[in-house]
Amino acid sequence: MDKQGVSNISVKRLNMRAVFFYLMERGSASVRDLSVALDMSAPTVIQNLNELTERKLVVIEGMRESTGGRKARAYNVNDRACFAAGLDVTRADVSLAILGLRGQAVLNAKSRLPFSDRPEYYEKVGRFLSDHLEKAGVVPEELVGVGISLPAIIAGDGQSTTNADPLGKRIVQLHSFKQYIPRPCRLLNDANAGGYAEFWAGNPIGSRQGLKNLVYLSVSNTVGGSILIEGRMFGGDDQHSAEFGHMTLVPNGKFCYCGQKGCAYCYVNTRILSDVGGTLEGFFRQLKKDDENARAVWDKYLGHLALLINNIRCAYDCEVVVGGYLGRFLPPYLEELRTRTAVRNIFERSGQYVRVSAQTGAAMGAALTCLHSFIEEI
Ligand SMILES: [Zn+2]
Repeated sequence: MDKQGVSNISVKRLNMRAVFFYLMERGSASVRDLSVALDMSAPTVIQNLNELTERKLVVIEGMRESTGGRKARAYNVNDRACFAAGLDVTRADVSLAILGLRGQAVLNAKSRLPFSDRPEYYEKVGRFLSDHLEKAGVVPEELVGVGISLPAIIAGDGQSTTNADPLGKRIVQLHSFKQYIPRPCRLLNDANAGGYAEFWAGNPIGSRQGLKNLVYLSVSNTVGGSILIEGRMFGGDDQHSAEFGHMTLVPNGKFCYCGQKGCAYCYVNTRILSDVGGTLEGFFRQLKKDDENARAVWDKYLGHLALLINNIRCAYDCEVVVGGYLGRFLPPYLEELRTRTAVRNIFERSGQYVRVSAQTGAAMGAALTCLHSFIEEI
C-alpha cells in the first residue's frame, strides 16, 4: 500500500475514534452536535456513525429536539456492546468485577475459594466466572478480556508469576487459568491492579484531561504498591518498582521475611494490628473505645506509616493513596496521619496529598486494563 493509502486509513480511523470518544465522554449527541464539536462535515460524521453502529459500539438512542424545530436522531455509546472481567485471586477467596463498555459495574461478586495450584481449583474459578456471566446476561463471546490479579510478581512475558509467596506458591502459570476461561486472559500484580482502579475508576476511555500522577500504597498483611505516571503504570526495568514494603524504614531493625532487616513491612503490615485486636475490625473497635494498649500500638504504627508515606512523597511529589485492608478503617484517622506526615516534610503544611482509597478493588482494575486495551484498538 502506498503512503497516501496508509494516511487515508489513519485519518479515517482518527475520525472514527474522535466520534466514539466524544460519545463516550459526553453521552448522547446528534449528527449536528458532533459535526460542530469535532469540526467535521455532516457526511463524514454520518459515515463514522454508520460504521460504529454496524460494529454495535454505538446505538441510536431515539429522537431529540434540535434548534431547527425538527427532531434529530440521537446517538450514544452502546454500553453493553462488550464487557471486561477482572478476577482478584487471594489465598482465601476470589472477587469478580464485570464492567460494561463505559466502565460501568455490571456485576460484582466474591466467593470463598482457597487458592490451590491444582486443576480442580482453576476449574472452580472458571465456573465461578461463567456462572456470574450468565447471571449478568453476558455471553462469553462478548468479553473482550479477563484480567487476573494476584498477590505476586508477574514475569516480563506475562505468562507466569516469578514469586507468589502470599499464595504459598512461587510460580503460577497463566495457562492454568486459561484452560478454563475461553477468553483472552492476562495476569496482573494486585497492587498494580488496585492502583489502576484507583486512578481510572469512572474513566473508561483511558485518557482524560489534566492527567496526574499517583502512588498507591497497599497496606494489608503484605505491603506493596504501584506508581501511575500520567495514568500509566510505571513498572521499572524489572517490574520491581513500588516494593514499598521492602524499603528500609528502621536501619538494623526487625527481621523481614525477605531476609533483610528493618523493612517497612515489619512496621506497617496490618497483622501488627490484628494480632492485638484478634481481627482488624477488633483492633479498631478497641481503638475507638480508647483502649490504652490499642492506642499505644496505633501511635507507634501511625508514626511508621507517616514516615513511609513521607519518603514516598519526597520521591514522587504526587498524591499518595492508602489502600489495602487498612484503607477501609483509616478515614477517622486520616487527619491525624496527614498531620504526622506533614511535619516530616519541608514542602508540606497539611499533608492533604494523603488520601484513603475509594476501595474500588483490584478486580475492577484488572477488568479496566482489558477494557482500555480494547478501546485503544478501536
Ligand atoms: Zn523485606
